[in-house]
Amino acid sequence: MRQTNQLIIIKEIFQKYEGHQTANEIYKKAHRRLPAISLATVYRILNTLVTENYLERLNIEEGRYELKKEKHIHFICNKCGKIQNIPGEEQIKSIEENLKKKGMKVSKREIIFYGICKEC
Ligand SMILES: [Zn+2]
Ligand SMILES: [Zn+2]
Repeated sequence: MRQTNQLIIIKEIFQKYEGHQTANEIYKKAHRRLPAISLATVYRILNTLVTENYLERLNIEEGRYELKKEKHIHFICNKCGKIQNIPGEEQIKSIEENLKKKGMKVSKREIIFYGICKEC
């Protein structure tokens, strides 16, 4: 039962704080509501949620997690570090089609642009 409660709270954190969060950030937020939760448990739950296609894990820094949504591109600001979602489903699909035609199988995609954001 406790495990279920932890899982629900972590899901709520993702519903509430949209964006790309590290396991540590999620742990800090979860810890306020569940003082007994450990970082290892947070990692275990995150892995489960990735397996269930609820979350997506990005290889940004030590790993960041976001709610699984339509295919998109990321833009990371070199100055403030902000990560923005940029629509690009059409383009990504067309690249994937090309790869498929060449006989390649795509299991994961991560397209990241780096630069300076509008605010900086
Ligand atoms: Zn910036
Ligand atoms: Zn994203």
